[in-house]
Amino acid sequence: MSKRALTVSREENFPEWYQAAVRDGDMAETSPVRGCMVIKPWGWGVWERIQAELDARIKETGHENCYFPLFIPMSFIAKEAEHVEGFAKEMAVVTHHRLKNEGGQLVVDPSAKLEEPLIVRPTSETIIGDAFQRWVKSYRDLPLLINQWANVVRWEMRTRLFLRTAEFLWQEGHTAHADRDDAMDETLKMLEVYREFAENVLAMPVVAGEKPANERFPGADNTYSIEAMMQDGKALQAGTSHYLGTHFAKAQNIQFQNREGQLEYCHTTSWGVSTRLIGGVIMTHGDDDGLRMPPRIAPRQIVIVPMLRDKPEDKELLEYCAGLEKELKALGIRVLVDAKPIKSAEKRWNWVRRGAPVIVEIGGRDAAGGNVTYMRRDRLRDGDKVISHTSPRAEFVAAAPVLLDDIQASLYAEAKARLDGNIVTSIKTFDDLQAYFGTASGDDDDDGTFKGWAEVAWSKPEGAALEAIADRLKALKLTIRNAPLNQKPIEGACLFTGDAAIEYVLIGRAY
Ligand code: AMP
Repeated sequence: MSKRALTVSREENFPEWYQAAVRDGDMAETSPVRGCMVIKPWGWGVWERIQAELDARIKETGHENCYFPLFIPMSFIAKEAEHVEGFAKEMAVVTHHRLKNEGGQLVVDPSAKLEEPLIVRPTSETIIGDAFQRWVKSYRDLPLLINQWANVVRWEMRTRLFLRTAEFLWQEGHTAHADRDDAMDETLKMLEVYREFAENVLAMPVVAGEKPANERFPGADNTYSIEAMMQDGKALQAGTSHYLGTHFAKAQNIQFQNREGQLEYCHTTSWGVSTRLIGGVIMTHGDDDGLRMPPRIAPRQIVIVPMLRDKPEDKELLEYCAGLEKELKALGIRVLVDAKPIKSAEKRWNWVRRGAPVIVEIGGRDAAGGNVTYMRRDRLRDGDKVISHTSPRAEFVAAAPVLLDDIQASLYAEAKARLDGNIVTSIKTFDDLQAYFGTASGDDDDDGTFKGWAEVAWSKPEGAALEAIADRLKALKLTIRNAPLNQKPIEGACLFTGDAAIEYVLIGRAY
């Protein structure tokens, strides 16, 4: 078996490979707190890049950032019936505000019971809605376009670093509009912002579409998502955008005076992406040598490793590297000289596992000859052999921005080919669906073989009929991911009911 930088390959065991990639890529680790993670500097650097790129897009589309409290009074959450029902099972509740020392033991002080329990926000519709109710008076105040960057808590039972944690970081957009059309335009506009961001910044191709009714956000009229295909063929819901109708406005009295002077309820929306995106990037681009970071989100795009030998010549080598660093920085490239007193081979493999897009190694001969020797992380090997390139320094510097763009594009192209090539369209019956995906065994939700997704025609039932379909799919560990926005002309019968089909939906296993 070929030697790679991670101890376990994707093919051997994808979930274990994922854990190794996160750990050895220096992204994050589990914490002493159940379901919560410690994000390490390299992982945090990626999140900062995601925040910067997405925040610019959120502002460009007219939204302003705000900050609301971490705690939400229980009575606020209780106002919207479906919302409370949907989140009740995973809420962290604060009931007391003091501890006391009882015979050397710290205990909760029963006399410090809160009059009203506080919920640690699982999402902020209700607390932001309360502000909207005060801020919106007339049609002139609309649309109201707000975003917040925050942490939220959902008491998830099965957690996995980045993909599903009890505390996670995200942005949540909340907007209020005068009518349905305007709110629906907003919902779809932000879905498109997510799609463009995922594809152009994360190099992660996605399918944008509408979730079936049983997968809607609690309290939403329509939920849309972007779905990405991971390297094990499973789907990752990478972002969601919700049209909330007037449910929250009615529950919280968000009303405005229209041009005719009459009071009307607002139509609201909400939309969010989270630190889950980082898990998506890892499972989209990582290989058996570790992470491969798309240059647009790599905290360091080019890492220079001087091949130090603990000799007087080291000084010249370091000066050469500093000069190269300066020239690359002047081009706006995020560059680092890793001069730590660690063996250079070890440093090389550390940066390979972290996925730095370009790793430069400078030895005495490079410095003397005015050259640069480098590796592209996206095409690290030819067979088992590591490929390195040597260019004159000036040429390398001049071509560096193009090199980074090329790495970004090649990562995207690779992932796009995988997505496009792994959606089967020939499945017409439930039996065929079952035969194709097989019965997933055991606790895990896959049998280890790559299946991708199926695109099937259906009649879009709701209510009990939809629940029955969801149950049949669940027995195969499958879910309907979404109905893509870009639909082909529909033909044939619904795979589940035999009725005339209305649209195509994507079905697959999912994270
Ligand atoms: P929602 O408010 O439920 O629509 O969630 C918004 C987005 O947050 C989802 O589309 C997911 O990408 C992400 N998300 C939801 N739950 C978690 C979790 N437990 N950990 C990380 N990300 C999550």
